[in-house]
Amino acid sequence: MFDSHFHLTDARLITHPAVLQGEFAGVEIGADFECLPSIFEFADKHEQVYCTAGVHPAYANDYSPNDFENFVAEHLNFKKFVAIGECGLDYHRSDLPSREQQITVFNHQIHLADRYQKPLVVHSRDAWEDTAEVLIANKNKLKNGVLIHCMSYTAEQAQYLINQLSGIDVYFAFGGHITYPSKAFLHDTIRVIPLNRILLETDAPYLAPVPKRGEVNVPDYIRYSAQTMANVLNKTVDEIETLTTNNAYRFYKIKAAE
Ligand SMILES: [Zn+2]
Repeated sequence: MFDSHFHLTDARLITHPAVLQGEFAGVEIGADFECLPSIFEFADKHEQVYCTAGVHPAYANDYSPNDFENFVAEHLNFKKFVAIGECGLDYHRSDLPSREQQITVFNHQIHLADRYQKPLVVHSRDAWEDTAEVLIANKNKLKNGVLIHCMSYTAEQAQYLINQLSGIDVYFAFGGHITYPSKAFLHDTIRVIPLNRILLETDAPYLAPVPKRGEVNVPDYIRYSAQTMANVLNKTVDEIETLTTNNAYRFYKIKAAE
C-alpha cells in the first residue's frame, strides 16, 4: 500500500525494525529545514520512497526564505523530489510561532511551489479559517495541485474549500485519526470528497490508528486506516488500496495513474 505521508527518518523510526527490515512505499515528508539533506538521502537509498521539501509551521521561526529556496533550486533535478511541504498553519499549541510568522512562511512556500511547478502538501491543525483564506487568496498559485494532509475538518469545510478552489486539483489525505471514536465526524468528510481526490497516509511515527493507538506508528499500520475507509465508503480494502495509490501517484506525478 502506498503511504502518501510519513517521517521514517524520525529518530523513533530510523533504527526501528519496521524501517530497517520493512517493505514500504511512500513519500518521506520534509518538515524541518535542517533535516532535508537526510530526507533526500533516504529517498535516494530506497527504491519506492519519494521525498518533499518543506518547513512545518512549528519551525517557522527558523525559516530562511533564501536558504530554503536555494535548497529547492539545487535539488530540482532529483527525480524523487515530488512536492513542496509540509507547510501550513498549526494553532493547536500555544508554544508555536506566532500566527503572523506562520502565515508568512506558508505564503512563501506556496509561492515556491508555483515558481518551481511542484504540488503543495499542507498541514493545518485548529487553523481552518486562516488556512482556507490563505489558500483561496493564492488560488492562482495552486495550479500544480494541493493536498490537505491529515484532513481534520468537517464535511462542510471540505466542500467549501473544494468549491472555492474550483478548477484546482484539491486532494485530501486521511490517516489513523479516522479510526478514533472522537473523530468519527471525519467519516462524513470522507464521503463528500470526490473518489479521485482521496489519499491514505500514516504520518508515522505520529497518529497510530486503533488498535495500535499510543504506539509508535509504522507504515504497515496503514491497513487499519484502509479498513476504516473501506467501511465508510462501502468498498473492499483492495479497492481502497488501488484508489488511494492511483490518487497519490497522480497528485505527486510519480507515474501516470491507471
Ligand atoms: Zn507530517
